[in-house]
Amino acid sequence: MRHILLTPGPTPLPPEILEILSKPIIHHRTSEFKKILNRVREKIKKVFFTDSEVLIFASSGTGAMEAAVANFFKEGDKVLVIEGGKFGQRWSEICKSFRLQVLKEEVEWGKSLSKERLSEILDSNPDIKGVFSTLCETSTGTVFDIKGYGELLKDKECLLIVDAISGLASEVFYQDEWGADVVVSASQKGLMLPPGLGFLSFSKKAEKFLESSDLPKYYFDVKKYYKSILSDDTPFTPAINLVIALDKALDILLEEGMENVFKKFEKMSQAVRKAISALGLKLFSESPSQSVTAVISPVDSVKLVNLLRTKYKVSIAGGQAHLKGKIFRVAHMGYISYQDLFLGFLYLEKALKELGFELKELSSLNKLKEYM
Ligand SMILES: *Cc1c(COP(=O)(O)O)cnc(C)c1O
Repeated sequence: MRHILLTPGPTPLPPEILEILSKPIIHHRTSEFKKILNRVREKIKKVFFTDSEVLIFASSGTGAMEAAVANFFKEGDKVLVIEGGKFGQRWSEICKSFRLQVLKEEVEWGKSLSKERLSEILDSNPDIKGVFSTLCETSTGTVFDIKGYGELLKDKECLLIVDAISGLASEVFYQDEWGADVVVSASQKGLMLPPGLGFLSFSKKAEKFLESSDLPKYYFDVKKYYKSILSDDTPFTPAINLVIALDKALDILLEEGMENVFKKFEKMSQAVRKAISALGLKLFSESPSQSVTAVISPVDSVKLVNLLRTKYKVSIAGGQAHLKGKIFRVAHMGYISYQDLFLGFLYLEKALKELGFELKELSSLNKLKEYM
C-alpha cells in the first residue's frame, strides 16, 4: 500500500525528482555542476519573485532562519517578532540566542496580526531594526499580511524578515513587490524535494545591514555564499544531488507557471475547507492559509494521527504545544494532489468514525469531487 503524505513538510516527491535522486553523484567543482547552479540561480528568482540572488545552504529551513538573524543585525539591536505559533516562537528563540533585544508581539494562535496593529507598535518603538514574521504559520495554518507589513516598512530603516518556509510556491507571495527584505525557505515543502536545502534572499535595503552586522557566524556567513554564487559556486560542499533535483523541480513549477500554482492551491485549499465543513468540523484559523488547513479535532488528534498512519498509511499532522491533541492539519502544497486528498479524506472519515465521531459518510469526498 502506498503511503500518502499530507503533511506540511516533508511533502511527496514527483517521480521525475525520484529518478534524478537515484543518479550517480558528480563533483561540484566542475563546469558541469556550475552550469546547473547557474540555471538554478536564475530560475529560483522567479519562484521568489525577486531580482536578488537566492543563496542556497546545505541545511534545513532553520539554518536559513539562523542566517537571517546572524547576518543582518548587531548585538543588542531591538527587533520585533510577530509570534502567532510555533515558528514565530522559533524566530524569538534564535534572536535571543544571538543577543538581540526581542520585543514580542504575541498573537493568539490561529489569528494574524493586522497591519494597523503593527503600525501602532512601530510608532511607539521607532528604534526597531527588524520585524520578523511568518508567511504561513504552519503550526496553526494561518497566513500573515506580509504585503501590508512591507508597505509600512518600505521607507523605514527597519527590515522585514519573512519565514516563507512552508509558504513558498503555494502561498501568494512576491518578494520584491511586497518589500520583503530577507526571505528564507527550504526544500521539503512547496518545492517538492527532500529536506536538506535552505534558502535565503535579501534586498538592496538589507545590504547596508549586512555590512554593519557584528554577530558571530561562520557556516552561515551570507557574504561568503553571496560572493560564491556570483560565479556559480558555493563556499562549502553543496548538497549536490538536491541542487540537481532542484533544477528539475524549478522546471516543473515554472512550466506550470507560478500564477497557476498559486491558483491551484487557492482552489485546493477551498476544496479542503469545504470538505472539512461537510464533516461538520470547524477550521482553527481565522486567517486560513492556502498551504495547510488546521482543523479543530472532534476526537483526540494524537490518536487520530496515529490511527491514520498505522492502519491506513496516511500521514497528516497533529497540533503542537498547547494544541497537541486539539487540532489536526492537512497540507495542500508541493506535489500533493487531489487524488492524495481524496484517499486521505476517505481514510480520515473511517478513522474519525472508529474514534467515535459521527459523520455523514462520503460527505467530504462529495465536496472534494466538486473541485477535482
Ligand atoms: C517547516 C517549517 C520550518 C522548519 O524548517 P526545518 O526545515 O524543519 O528547519 C520553519 N518555519 C516554517 C513556517 C515551517 O513550516
